[in-house]
Amino acid sequence: MKTATSLTLLPSLYDLTRAQLEAQLATWGEPAYRARQIWHWLYQRLVTDFDAMTDLPRGLRARLKEHFVLGRLIPVAEQRSTDGWTRKWLFQLPDGSQIETVLMEYDGERRTVCISSQAGCAMACSFCATGQMGFVRNLRSGEIVEQVLWAARALGDERLSNVVYMGMGEPFANYAPVMESIQRLTTPTQEGGFGIGARKITVSTVGLIPGIRRFAEEGGQVNLAISLHAATDELRTRLVPINARYPLRELVRAAREYIEKTNRRLSYEWALIDHVNDTPEQAQALVELVRQTNPRPGVNLVHVNLIPLNPTAGYAGRASSAARRQAFVQVLRRAGIPCTLRVRRGIDIAAGCGQLKAQHKQNG
Ligand code: SAH
Repeated sequence: MKTATSLTLLPSLYDLTRAQLEAQLATWGEPAYRARQIWHWLYQRLVTDFDAMTDLPRGLRARLKEHFVLGRLIPVAEQRSTDGWTRKWLFQLPDGSQIETVLMEYDGERRTVCISSQAGCAMACSFCATGQMGFVRNLRSGEIVEQVLWAARALGDERLSNVVYMGMGEPFANYAPVMESIQRLTTPTQEGGFGIGARKITVSTVGLIPGIRRFAEEGGQVNLAISLHAATDELRTRLVPINARYPLRELVRAAREYIEKTNRRLSYEWALIDHVNDTPEQAQALVELVRQTNPRPGVNLVHVNLIPLNPTAGYAGRASSAARRQAFVQVLRRAGIPCTLRVRRGIDIAAGCGQLKAQHKQNG
């Protein structure tokens, strides 16, 4: 039986890049094709036990078991929303820190997993539950990847269609492991990999400019979302404190450079908070920022995602009323800016945007 100690001490196979696995196998004198076989078990067959890797020689399986654990996520709780389409898992990691992962199904067609990149978050956005709980630690690449595999397993025969880095944490504050996890998830099926398309993945950032710049260089086809929430510095700094360091002018410039470099669309995220950021003035200022973000006039590559604020314990603000939401949308529409008013999901199980935090403390 695996003990908590062995889980802590042994590295996880999911933390390894393909090259690292190949190097490890080479030191054991194993032929190179073993890496592909193992990859296939890990990322296509989604096995949870070394003994299930039946085409590996017994000796190699024993060696793998001696040196690695398969995974580190220990499920602590699973909750299902009454909407019937949303479920959330709370996982414990060997060091006791906890993360949450949310799986959302839409129309029996799109199936999106929302994954965490850190336990907790240091960004301290006032209206976000993860921000309110503070930072615990960065996740390893394997701990990020495992959340996706977990959701894929839960879906059984149905295929996972999208992965969004919109759970706990700030992906660009844990940049290298996040990019490594993307690499792992997008490894083509012909190579034994999970094979999800980069275009099916979205990384969401609070607006860390150095991360946005790096991502423009190396993000490939992966989508980028920026959590904006306010269109003036005074208000944004109150809601999203990191704005003091990376103010709107520079953020918008980085976003425009991202579009210029990648020729890809980008989305701005905006949680509508009653009488805080849902005013006509903010809507108009947002229109202006979107215009400044687009490199060429007349060509719109920015999409605005609006979502009514989800309730959190540490923030008194409330979701905008339907009338105020509509009025906000109208300002954007009249300016020709594409926007979506998103439907809230999983609020009854606190699985909505900004509601994720470790809730079940150990030993009470
Ligand atoms: N740190 C990254 C990834 C988190 S994504 C980021 O900020 O983008 C989670 C999304 O939910 C972000 O857009 C975040 O701003 C938003 N959010 C946070 N708290 C929320 C709340 N209470 N209601 C609605 N959306 C919220």
